[in-house]
Amino acid sequence: MFRSKYPTACGVGDARMGPFYCPADRKVYIDLSFYDSLEQEFSAPGDFAQAYVIAHEVGHHVQNLLGISEQVSAKRGQPDYNEYSVRLELQADYLAGLWAHHNKHYLERGDIEEAMQAANQIGDDAIQSRTQGKISPHAFTHGTSEQRMRWFNRGLKSGRIEDGDTFEQPYSSL
Ligand SMILES: [Zn+2]
Repeated sequence: MFRSKYPTACGVGDARMGPFYCPADRKVYIDLSFYDSLEQEFSAPGDFAQAYVIAHEVGHHVQNLLGISEQVSAKRGQPDYNEYSVRLELQADYLAGLWAHHNKHYLERGDIEEAMQAANQIGDDAIQSRTQGKISPHAFTHGTSEQRMRWFNRGLKSGRIEDGDTFEQPYSSL
């Protein structure tokens, strides 16, 4: 956790990048000002909104260990790379939901709603309409708000890693 700038094996982290996972040093980096924005600009306050963000990034660590991230990185430069990126990101949301499923006994009233509100606010369509005033689906890298909430929820309901294959179904039905 840091504020402003911080050196990582993936370059210098800073607030504009948002939270990220660095496969080179296998660490999750979060500029705490992102949490301020989540609460103030994105209206997604609460400890579980923050937990969801961390769980999503740890999801990327799991994908790294399973070799999934590497397969997606190999597609970089291809015209459909963004679609692979969306699949990878929605799977990280699924894994965050999966984590919540297995920690149900720690959850408090309103926690799931906090995570869903965060997912709703950081979908590509929500971010694009805030920053650009229009939505360009071909530029999506993380999935829409609806998709992000859906995959988090699927992980939460299922609790099984096998049900989180975002790569096998048609892109249009994710
Ligand atoms: Zn991600």
